[in-house]
Amino acid sequence: MAFQWYPGHMNKAKNQVQDRLKMVDIVLEIVDARLPYSSRNPVLEDIINQKKHIIILNKSDLADPKLTADWKLNFEQEGTASIESDAKHDNKLSNLNTLIRAELSQKIAKYENAGVKNYQIKAMCIGIPNVGKSTILNKMVGKNVAVTGNKPGVTKNQNWLKTNYGIDLLDTPGILWPKINDPKVGMKLALSGAIKDKIYPPDDVAIFALNFLQAHYLKRLTDVYNLDSADMLNHTTGELLMHLTEQFGYKEDYDRAARKVIMDVRNLRFGRVTFDVPGEFYEE
Ligand code: GDP
Repeated sequence: MAFQWYPGHMNKAKNQVQDRLKMVDIVLEIVDARLPYSSRNPVLEDIINQKKHIIILNKSDLADPKLTADWKLNFEQEGTASIESDAKHDNKLSNLNTLIRAELSQKIAKYENAGVKNYQIKAMCIGIPNVGKSTILNKMVGKNVAVTGNKPGVTKNQNWLKTNYGIDLLDTPGILWPKINDPKVGMKLALSGAIKDKIYPPDDVAIFALNFLQAHYLKRLTDVYNLDSADMLNHTTGELLMHLTEQFGYKEDYDRAARKVIMDVRNLRFGRVTFDVPGEFYEE
């Protein structure tokens, strides 16, 4: 497997996250809304225990709105609160603040009944690299703060950041690497740009993308690349990539064509596309 995930690193990252979990009331698990399954780390479920937990479907501006709604419903049915977010363009994350308070309402009421006014909520962000942890943290704090430790295994003294919402946030987000047991998960992470481009050959990723678009967004695929149904019916997606290489005028440079297909997906030429479909992954 091209993606290296050493058990030692995994345990170190897991232990650090576990230690810091003890310090907070609620965990904000940030996922990429295009990959609400593939951009989660299953380890988190094991260590989160009874802790309150909100899934933030970030980069929702890039994701298929219908599937984002389906995912929210899916998480709700599993008993986990979730919220969509576009941290890049939204200046205020006030909906998130409202949800955090709603999730913690019982705890806050308990403290208030015991005479504690203005219980100070403590939260931490967690997620795999690149899902938008720093962006969300900065938006909540209302100014740019240096977010450090963006690697598993980086230890550092913990500081609390005051946010605009009267919630304290740990200044270092918890990082867990994605877990790539299923090659499809790796392809989706590569396609979305969550993992480095050099990890998988571009033609594998592009062929995965063409297959996925063919299965889920056929009209968009045929419209954008001017394909007729014969192109689709008579060719494998490998052949389709060769056909597109010629169509793009790239002679036999299949890698260049593959990189263009990948960039076309990332740059929304096929519109807002979500790569994970609820239900597809719950067979294990
Ligand atoms: P981190 O590694 O989880 O801390 O991720 P960052 O906060 O550094 O974000 C990674 C990239 O995603 C940056 O280029 C951000 O500008 C971008 N980004 C973050 N949130 C969003 C979002 O909601 N929408 C879009 N389109 N881009 C986002």
